[in-house]
Amino acid sequence: MATGIVGEFLDLKAETDADVLAMQCGDFYEFFADDAELVADELDLTVSQKSSHGSSYPMAGVPLSELTPYVKALVERGYRVAVADQYETDDGHAREITRVVTPGTLLETADDDARYLAAVVREGDGGGASAAGEASGSYGLALADVTTGRFLVTEASDESDLRAELYRFDPAEVLPGPRVRNDDRLLGAVREDLSGSVSVFDAEAFAPGRAKHAVREQFGRETADSVGVDSDLALRAAGAVLGYVAETGAGVLASMTRLTAYGDGDHVDVDATTQRNLELTETMRGDGEGSLFETIDHTVTAAGGRLLREWVTRPRRDRAALDRRLDAVEALAAAALARDRLRETLGEAYDLERLAARATSGSAGARELLSVRDTLALVPAMLDAVEGTALADSPVAAVLEGLDRDRARALHGELADALADDPPKAKTQGGLLRKGYDDELDGLIASHEEASEWLDTLAEREKRQYGLSHVTVDRNKTDGYYIQVGKSVADQVPEHYREIKTLKNSKRFVTDELAEREREVLRLEEARGELEYELFEELRERVADDAELLQDVGRVVAEMDALASLATHAAGNDWTRPELTDERRLDVEAGRHPVVERTTDFVPNDLRLDAERGFLIVTGPNMSGKSTYMRQAALIQLLAQAGSFVPARAATVGLVDGIYTRVGALDELAQGRSTFMVEMQELSNILHSASADSLVILDEVGRGTATYDGISIAWAATEYLHNEVRARTLFATHYHELTTLADHLPRVANVHVAVDERDGEVTFLRTVRDGPTNRSYGVHVADLAGVPAPVVSRADEVLDRLREEKAIEARGSRSGGREAGGGGADGAGGGTEQVVFDLSSGSFAGDGDAGPAEADGEGTDPTDGPSRTGGEPTTDGVAASPEAEPLDPETRAVLDELSDVDVAATAPVELLARVQEWQERLDGDR
Ligand code: ADP
Repeated sequence: MATGIVGEFLDLKAETDADVLAMQCGDFYEFFADDAELVADELDLTVSQKSSHGSSYPMAGVPLSELTPYVKALVERGYRVAVADQYETDDGHAREITRVVTPGTLLETADDDARYLAAVVREGDGGGASAAGEASGSYGLALADVTTGRFLVTEASDESDLRAELYRFDPAEVLPGPRVRNDDRLLGAVREDLSGSVSVFDAEAFAPGRAKHAVREQFGRETADSVGVDSDLALRAAGAVLGYVAETGAGVLASMTRLTAYGDGDHVDVDATTQRNLELTETMRGDGEGSLFETIDHTVTAAGGRLLREWVTRPRRDRAALDRRLDAVEALAAAALARDRLRETLGEAYDLERLAARATSGSAGARELLSVRDTLALVPAMLDAVEGTALADSPVAAVLEGLDRDRARALHGELADALADDPPKAKTQGGLLRKGYDDELDGLIASHEEASEWLDTLAEREKRQYGLSHVTVDRNKTDGYYIQVGKSVADQVPEHYREIKTLKNSKRFVTDELAEREREVLRLEEARGELEYELFEELRERVADDAELLQDVGRVVAEMDALASLATHAAGNDWTRPELTDERRLDVEAGRHPVVERTTDFVPNDLRLDAERGFLIVTGPNMSGKSTYMRQAALIQLLAQAGSFVPARAATVGLVDGIYTRVGALDELAQGRSTFMVEMQELSNILHSASADSLVILDEVGRGTATYDGISIAWAATEYLHNEVRARTLFATHYHELTTLADHLPRVANVHVAVDERDGEVTFLRTVRDGPTNRSYGVHVADLAGVPAPVVSRADEVLDRLREEKAIEARGSRSGGREAGGGGADGAGGGTEQVVFDLSSGSFAGDGDAGPAEADGEGTDPTDGPSRTGGEPTTDGVAASPEAEPLDPETRAVLDELSDVDVAATAPVELLARVQEWQERLDGDR
């Protein structure tokens, strides 16, 4: 057992479940033992050895003032760092853990992104034996951004919902409830979806009673009872988050002023897969660049960026709210000058939501409060930029309405009166506050200055009074204030000088009066520093008390910024206001892909989905633009429901409750998962979740399996989406065969991406036209890609052969099926109409084309079947075509004779006679 300082460290370490402990030892924070090795590895600190009672331990340390960046770096690498501070006691000092910094409670973030801490509870979690709850799979979810005080709760109806929600907010840290934490599969999935870490927190904090109490304490009984989610689960998750924030000592509870609840029906369901597929905030490769958000983001403030990102990832369903947003964007798009002025003003704003959290946590210094002051000072300018301009009567003005201008002005005034203009970084050095702010402080400052003045002028006085030539008055740590006299005149000093030190060229002296004045100056200095800091803390608390005001102003800034950003993009890229409707349609004239159009000479395309035409099968060669066309549709839908203009000449957008996509993903292969399994899970999720109000995008279904499996699944899924789900659907497929479905399912239509083929060269036109393509282009692409000519031409041959054989199998299976059915009944003969698909011709064949004679034969004599199939299965397989029927010997003889006749050498009369004879022989055969 280690004793001494290392022992104390290890004892404290045992108290916490943090990964690393930093313990204050005087002017340093020290890491010992394994923790020292860990920080040394991670952060390049030097490790030394600390001997303690005969043993030696690795040790690494950082100066007190430099801890923050180290903690931050560790936490960003996913570690939870406990900080133990030293405090004075009667008999020396002691240490205790004052904070545990975790990924979800790290205040000192450098980037502008929201940083969410999430808690997840599942039905039955922690509630003990509530068997009733176990059946349902609902989840309660709470999300808090400690850096801004934002606090959201909701209930997710199933796991996919939950994962979508988590993916959308991408929390830095997730606290799973007692049941969730034991669900390895779910945790695994969450870990895979998110970049954040998972922390285990006291199960008690999730218990209904305690959690609800915590929520009431924080937000007031009323809020807690009327949050709008009558969900115990959501409240329990909220309680756990509050408990965790309190326990880790982040000190930001006071900045969590509002609990915002949202429900299932508020936002468009965009599951995690779809968010990824549509590259909303990052591309498939994982970059931010090239994402939808990055493309349309022109915000000038951090908070505006966060809000816009949220609009994009959480599109809404409320038409009235969206129309208001669109009104504002339209007004801003039309008023270029006013918009520029507004954005210029906004650009000077600091991140008030974050500053509010820093004020409440006590980490804000004078410079941060100055930022608050300067941002509040912008409020009048913001008002001017709206009220005195073309925007005055627009909905943009409404955004400003909720603002408490008087309170904002009052707080600004207070800060302006209090803070010095250029305060130092350190909070305890003085110089933070302005003269005239506090009489007592001013008094102390005056006395201090007076005392300093006496010291400053002492040397001059001594020179004059005692005729000493080389005299200076100075101060250092060991000697305090002293009078230094050059050696040459050292023996002329007056009597009351007491010598304290002899140097090479001088001597140092003190006097009683100097010592007295020194004590006075030091006392005043300390008193001044203390009072000033006290006053500063009071001021900071005042600001913290106004956290809600700061959040309000911050949100107005964010909203204006996000709206102006949408308007800027719309105006700069010729986007148009979508007409929102509750009808089930999506009608786009000359639409473009919002991201691709930025880098390509884009060919616009129309799209029409409505009650008569709700399901489009999109065909065309590889790389022709099918997937771009479909994503473009989804993105236009999504942008409209984010309240944005859209890239099109005109668009009528029926609001959807969800956007679901399934596209072939490359990364899943890399992760070693069975692509086909994943594909089918995604398809299954879509077929379960989508409704008649959803938009579904399918980019290839069934590719990951054998052709017939694939076609069958794609086929059945199409029927199901068309007949049962009735979602608006775009389905790109390389199964050219599916295009015939348009003839049989009333709302299915074909479109294809046109290509120009001349002299064996394919030119992609990027134009989408009605109707199917007339062939598939795989071999052609192989050719374009430079596959050697012999391989290409052989592939063409093989393809033709395969096509022929597919046809044979299809027909064969049809007649086989009928024979099996015909064994018991005359169903087949009775004319049960069964449509059979001919894979080679790409068309359907009904009983009518199949030859009634054959059907009769089978129908009247069931025993005939087996004897016929017993003979020659392959020829029997083609029985559907009459000419392939086996010939009887007489007929064959007639045919042989016929072909042997030499017409030129036979007399016409004889020919007539022979024909008559053949006819008689054939007739006799019937
Ligand atoms: P597919 O899904 O048919 O294989 P993609 O949609 O991936 O094809 O498009 C292939 C390429 O064509 C992409 O690089 C894309 O940028 C470009 N493209 C697609 N549609 C258009 C268009 N309408 N105008 C210009 N370029 C386009």
